[in-house]
Amino acid sequence: MERPIYLDNHATTRLDPRVLRAMMPWLTEEYGNPSSRSHSYGWRAEEAIETARGHVATLMGADPHEVIFTSGATEANNNVIKGVGASVITTAIEHKSVLAPCSCIEAAGHAVYLADVDLHGALDIDDLRRKVRTRPGLVSVMMANNEVGTIQPLRAAFGMWPEGTLFHSDMAQALGKIPVDVKAEGVHFASFSAHKLHGPKGVGALYVEEQISHKLPAFIHGGGQEHGARSGTLNVPAIVGFGEACRLAKREMLEDMKKVRRMRDLFKDGLQDAVPGIKIHGREPQLPGTLHIALPCEEMDMFMAALGDGVALSFGSACMSSSVRKSHVLDAMGIPSEEINRSVRIGIGRFNTEEEMARTVGHIAVALDIARSGG
Ligand code: PMP
Repeated sequence: MERPIYLDNHATTRLDPRVLRAMMPWLTEEYGNPSSRSHSYGWRAEEAIETARGHVATLMGADPHEVIFTSGATEANNNVIKGVGASVITTAIEHKSVLAPCSCIEAAGHAVYLADVDLHGALDIDDLRRKVRTRPGLVSVMMANNEVGTIQPLRAAFGMWPEGTLFHSDMAQALGKIPVDVKAEGVHFASFSAHKLHGPKGVGALYVEEQISHKLPAFIHGGGQEHGARSGTLNVPAIVGFGEACRLAKREMLEDMKKVRRMRDLFKDGLQDAVPGIKIHGREPQLPGTLHIALPCEEMDMFMAALGDGVALSFGSACMSSSVRKSHVLDAMGIPSEEINRSVRIGIGRFNTEEEMARTVGHIAVALDIARSGG
C-alpha cells in the first residue's frame, strides 16, 4: 500500500540517508567509548565526537566548547530553566518543554511572567521590555514557533537585559531551516534537536555561552563527560549523525529554503484556488516550510476520516478518546476554539516534491467535499 504523503516535518523529519551512512560505522565496528583514553577505539570515537561537535557549533555560530550534547531540546530546555532556578519571563506559545519546567519553577516559589504575543504568534517586544523591568533571572523566547512557524524578533531584544538576566531561546525548529547565529541573536543559552533537521531522534544540544557557563550547574552527575555538565557515556552514532545533519544543512540550507518555500507557496495558491474561504495563521517572517490554516469545514472528524491515509499532517486540536486536546499555541494567539478545531498544520521538508504538494491539494479538496456533504 502507498504510504501517506509526509507533511508533518515540524513533528520530526526523515533521517537523511547520508546521515545514516555516516552513522553506520559507529553502530557496527566502531564501538569504542570516547572516554577510553588508553586505546585507539576510544581515540577514534573521541575524534568523531569532536568532529561532530565542530559541525554542530558551526551551524549555530558557536565555539565547539560551548556545545553540550543532550538527548534533545526537551532536556536542554529543562536544564536551563531548572538549572538557573530563578524568576522567568517567557511566552504562552512556547513548547511544553519550556512551559512545564516554568511551572516547576513557579511551584518552587519563583515568579513566571508571560510576555504578550499577537494574533500571528509574534512577540510583543514592548511588552517584553516592560516585563523585563521586574529583573527576571531568565528570559526564554523560542526562535521559531513549532505550530504557526512565526520567527521571533530576538535581535530586537539585544541589550535589553538588566545586569544578571540570562537569555535562553528554544531554537529546535530553526536550526537547519533558517540561518541561526547564537552570537548575533544575543542568547546565553539555546536548545536544539537533531531530528528536526534530518538527523536521528534522541540527540540534541544545549549551547551555553562561555562567559556564563559557571551559572549553570551540572545536570547529570557522574563520570564528568561534557565538561562535567552532563555525565554519561556519549551516544556516539547519534552524535555523529547530528554532526552530519548539521554539516549537510550548512552546505544545503539556502537551496533547501528556496525549494521548500516554493513548494509552500505553490501549495498555498493551489489550495486557495481549489478551496475558497481558507484562513492563514502566522505571518512573515516565518519558517519557509510552514503553512498553518483554518479550513472552511464544520465536520472535522469527517474530514480527518475522509483524508484517511492520503496525507500525514497535524491538526490544531486532536480528539483523544473522550478528551479533546486543543493547541495551547493557537489559544494563546487568541484564535477562537471553533477556528482551532478547523485548523491544520502543513510542514514541508527537504524530501517533499512539487508533485506531492499538487496531490495534497487534491486530497484535501476531495476530503472537504466528502465532509461537507455529510460523508
Ligand atoms: N521545542 C520545540 C519548539 C519543538 O518543536 C520540539 C519538538 N516538537 C521540542 C522543543 C522538543 O524536542 P524533543 O522532543 O526532540 O526533545
